[in-house]
Amino acid sequence: MNTGPAATNNPAASSAPRSANSAVATTATAIVNIASLVTNDPSLGDGSPLGLIQDAAVVVDGDRVVWVGESSRTPATDNRVDAGGRAVIPGFVDSHSHLVFAGDRTAEFNARMSGQAYAAGGIRTTVAATRAASDEALSANVARFMREALRQGTTTFETKSGYGLTVEDEARALRIAAEHTDEVTYLGAHIVSPDYADDPAAYVELVTGEMLDACAPHARWVDVFCEKGAFDGDQARAILTAGKAKGLHPRVHANQLTYGPGVQLAVELDAASADHCTHLTDADVDALASGNTVATLLPGAEFSTRAQWPDARRLLDAGVTVALSTDCNPGSSFTSSVPFCIALAVRDMGMTPDEALWSATAGGAAALRRTDIGRLTAGARADLTFLDAPSPVHLAYRPGVPLVSEVWRAGARVAG
Ligand SMILES: [Zn+2]
Repeated sequence: MNTGPAATNNPAASSAPRSANSAVATTATAIVNIASLVTNDPSLGDGSPLGLIQDAAVVVDGDRVVWVGESSRTPATDNRVDAGGRAVIPGFVDSHSHLVFAGDRTAEFNARMSGQAYAAGGIRTTVAATRAASDEALSANVARFMREALRQGTTTFETKSGYGLTVEDEARALRIAAEHTDEVTYLGAHIVSPDYADDPAAYVELVTGEMLDACAPHARWVDVFCEKGAFDGDQARAILTAGKAKGLHPRVHANQLTYGPGVQLAVELDAASADHCTHLTDADVDALASGNTVATLLPGAEFSTRAQWPDARRLLDAGVTVALSTDCNPGSSFTSSVPFCIALAVRDMGMTPDEALWSATAGGAAALRRTDIGRLTAGARADLTFLDAPSPVHLAYRPGVPLVSEVWRAGARVAG
């Protein structure tokens, strides 16, 4: 066995940048012959934010990455996988989806594409169908869409409640979501429940009281749709503050359909993310640039509602951290495809292919305040997406083409 390369990459033997690599056991698995590897570590490879290494290898041990570098320096391991000259990127981190639902809104989409405007109220259709569905049907639906997303390279998924809008139905949605992912968000404040149409204040009281008590044990995050037709700034503040007091961390649906207070409220409350960010004043952009809140852009929503695109270039030029996610939901963005969102962001939102890829991986991780995902460096979870392409630029260059040919999650091959 040739142990030479392992010795040169031993962290104890060198203080060079790649000394971040862990010691490699021979029982680990080396994935070699990677044409281009995206690490998202600017200290590696070409020194860009993507930390791109050409002709690369990754060594995986258990559920973790233990080594990345040039193929020629791969440590000796018993197991080798040939990537066949494909590109490898970190699994996508989709930090915004709504997957606990039942029913279908084909007719609404069809009507909208025939000229009707999108309004927040369409959510009520899904609420009725979701309340009527069994636990088993809802869980099977979540599993189906997560598998669909996994096949397209997504290895981390956030998902929300918000189609129950009663104490029992919201808690049930979160219980079901938690069977499938750790990133679970309480969105009792999606819209004012139709049962409280005449008394929104009473609904806010429910969302911040009894419903929150029932939901908090099952969730990590609290979210609110701060928008005309949903919840105003004062209501949103009350909902997020109450969630925080119960140990949930805020994120906000903000400034999607109109200008409003959502983005600045998100920054003020140190929300992990302000999601949508389509209609922003200069003060909103300044707030995002000065705070720790990620701007999560969801172009599937603008695509599916024929709305104005969010201006990613403006945010990036101001120094804002940008994430890119699907907003997968049956009403306004029924896509689970991050590659599709990358293509839209590059074509229509002013992002470069590198920026869009970073935002869909490291940006998504930042929006979930995670450091173990969204990168491929020693110590990260071994979430790898293989592309049938020599370069990840192909994600935008070849839109609509199923380039994801293999997916590993936590060190196990789960698709392809
Ligand atoms: Zn959403």
